[in-house]
Order: sequence, then C-alpha cells, then structure tokens
Amino acid sequence: MHAVTDETAVLVDAVLAYARERMLSTTTPLDHTATELELRERSGRTVTEDGIGAERALEVFADVLAPACITTDHPDYLSFIPTAPTKAATAFDLVVSATAVYGGSWLEGSGAVYAENEVLSFLAAEFGLPDSAGGVFVQGGTLGNLSALVAARESAVARIGDPGGRWVVVCNAEAHSSIVSAARVMDVDIVTVDPGPSGRLTGEAIRPTLERLGDRVFAVVATAGSTNFGIVDDIASIAALGDEFGFWLHVDGAYGLAGMLSPLARPLFAGVDRADSLIVDPHKWLFAPFDACALIYRDPEAGRRAHTQHADYLDTLTEAAEWSPSDYAVQLTRRARGLPLWFSLASHGAGAYRDAVTASIQLARRIAGEIESRDGFHLVREPQLSVVVFERDGWSRADYDAWSAGLLRDQRAFVVPSSHAGRPNTRFAILNPRTTFESLVGILDTMDV
Ligand SMILES: *Cc1c(COP(=O)(O)O)cnc(C)c1O
Repeated sequence: MHAVTDETAVLVDAVLAYARERMLSTTTPLDHTATELELRERSGRTVTEDGIGAERALEVFADVLAPACITTDHPDYLSFIPTAPTKAATAFDLVVSATAVYGGSWLEGSGAVYAENEVLSFLAAEFGLPDSAGGVFVQGGTLGNLSALVAARESAVARIGDPGGRWVVVCNAEAHSSIVSAARVMDVDIVTVDPGPSGRLTGEAIRPTLERLGDRVFAVVATAGSTNFGIVDDIASIAALGDEFGFWLHVDGAYGLAGMLSPLARPLFAGVDRADSLIVDPHKWLFAPFDACALIYRDPEAGRRAHTQHADYLDTLTEAAEWSPSDYAVQLTRRARGLPLWFSLASHGAGAYRDAVTASIQLARRIAGEIESRDGFHLVREPQLSVVVFERDGWSRADYDAWSAGLLRDQRAFVVPSSHAGRPNTRFAILNPRTTFESLVGILDTMDV
C-alpha cells in the first residue's frame, strides 16, 4: 500500500516469531473445539473500521483462536487421516506466501512450476507411469478425483459419443465419499460394487456390472487405501479388464498411495502402472502441510483438453505451448502448493520418506499384534497400511463416545469412534513419525475400565 514502515517490520517479525515457535514446538497440546459463544466472548469483535492492531490480533489468535483448533499434527491425533508435515515443508510454506508466486501459468511461475513438475515426475515414476505422465497439485483429493473423472468423461464422449443411457462411474462400495460427490457434481450415475468381507474390490467382482452397463461405464475408480481401513483394491485385476471394456481407470490413492514408497506395502499396489489417472495427497502421508493433492494423468493432454479455460484475456496463456498447471484441473488461479513438498523432498531425499512410511506401517502392525493379544479387544480387519480398526468387546456407541470425549478432555489423545457394517468401533490412523508404540498402548489401557 505504501513504503515499508517500522511498524510493518515489527508486525512481520512478530508473526514470524510466532510461526517459528509453533513450528519448533513439541509440546503444543491437542486443544479443544470451542463453541461460537465462547469464542465471541473471549475474542470480542476483531473486524472493525479502524482495526485492532497487529499486536492485539496476534494475541487473539494465539490465546483464543489457535487453542480452539485441534492440533492435527499432534503425535496422539489418530483420527480421520492425520497430518504430519516435516518442518522443512511447513517452513517453506511461509516462503510460498512470502514470494507471491503465481502457480497457474508457466509464463508467470515457470520456476515454481518446474519444481512442482519435478516432484510430480518423481511420484509418477514411483507409481510406474511413463515419463510422459504429468499433472498438477490441486487443493485436495476431492478436487483431484473430480478433475480426473471430468477428464475421463470427456475422453469417453470423444471416443463413444452417445453411450445409450446415463454415464456411469463404477467403484468399491467402500470408496471415499468424494467419488459420490464428484458424480453428483457431474450429474452422472455411480454404481458401487460390494467388495465382500475383505473390503478389497477385484476385477471379478466388477465384471458383471461392466457387462450389464456396457459403454455407459466411462470410468472405474480403484481405491488405493480406503480411508476407513487402508485397504487397497486389487488394481491389477481391475486394470486387466480395461482392454475388453474400454473404461478409464482412475486410482484414488489420496491417503494410501504413499504406501508404495515402502517395500513393505509396494506389492499391494500392483497394477497402478495401468492407471489413466491417479491422485495422492501430500497433506496426508507425504508429510506436507494442508492443502495439496497431486493429480497425475497418464496422458496429460486428456486433462488439458477437459480443463483449459478459454477467455479473451487469457489468450496469451492458453495459446502458449508451455505447461500451465491451471489447464489440468477445475481451477484457474492457484497457489504453488506443491512447493512445500518439493523443498522437503529436495532437502531430505526420497530415502527419508521411504523410511518414514515404512515406520508407520511397522508401528501399525505392532499395535495390531498388541490388540489381538489383549483380552476384550479384537481387530475388525488385519491392517494393510497404517490404519488399525478395532473393537472393545461389548462396548456400545455410547461407551466409545464417552471414552473418546474423556481422552480429549484429559488432553491425552484424539481418537474418535467409527463404525463398520453397523457395529461401532474405533481406529488408530498412524502416520506421524512422533507417534510411539508406548503411547498407543497407554491409550488401549484407558479402555480397560
Ligand atoms: C482423504 C481422501 C479423499 C479426499 O481428499 P481431500 O484432500 O480430503 O479432499 C479422497 N479419497 C480418499 C481415499 C481419501 O482418503
């Protein structure tokens, strides 16, 4: 707005000091959800005509607002899918903001796009896709799945024209809710297939559906690590039907595909190299901060045909031959959200990532063994990746609810109830390298009441 004043420098220093302390802290508590009334009472009105000043605003954030946000990178945050960004990635996220890099076009952000693309190429190679594969970092898995399925339909329309009925996407009945959401946004039908007791969808299971629906099936989504259980579909047997039925194979690996970095889990993902598109979320098991999803197409041109926006003011961009990330998903303006992962991966090397993913899987196996050996506990399913789902015998949903609330009240852990096939259970989603076996055992002990 005007020249930098001392006041601005003081403000920047204060914000950086706060960020530095939080980043390096190993004692940030889990904290609590607050009610709107509590927050209004404690923070007062902060958006005013004259402003309350940076010092006061930072104070409100530090003392009132931040403690009303659950610490998702806490080692005992074990619900949903946690996040555990490396310090390198988190610190670099500040740089992405500080440099005001525009990540939408090569013209404006070539350096950033180059680095993001190097990460996407690394991931594509890891998953067995050809050198020509490429894509873009989008906000999250929901948007990644939607963008991939839009490209899939576009490609089917070009190939088939009129399918003789509504378009259909086929997936596992345990697939992520974002597939249902994408189908709704696209106004296409979704047909889910029961994977049976193992949770693992196979080609054999989907064949009758493909035979019945014929050309209407424009895409099959294979889940590479279900959110609730971490179960990986039998991707190879699904991919094997591709030539016969001509569908686009999309692999939703938002959480689990990172597991391929570990030799312990790699064999589970056989067939991923046949995918037409896939996603993996760095903000889940690739140790990057919110929010980033790597969306990769086997043939990036298919993504570009589906997504490039045309407008007079954009002509210099869309007529250029260069790689512009905006062209590959439902988006235009974009943060270079792949850079935190790039910086961390470049700093630490891929080997450190392999070790961290392997450690999560080993810890999940170890605590699963502990659960199996305890009286009154049993696993709902054997873990494949790093999610461990178990029941405390005889507990009702109310028992889990009360126990879970107590854990958070005591600032011990954040573990919420879940359910499967109508039965209540709970789960440990393990991916934070600071999560320990001893702590998990301590949480199990709290269930011995
Ligand atoms: C988390 C998840 C998603 C959604 O990703 P967001 O980044 O939360 O939008 C999709 N699919 C699977 C399998 C997931 O685990």
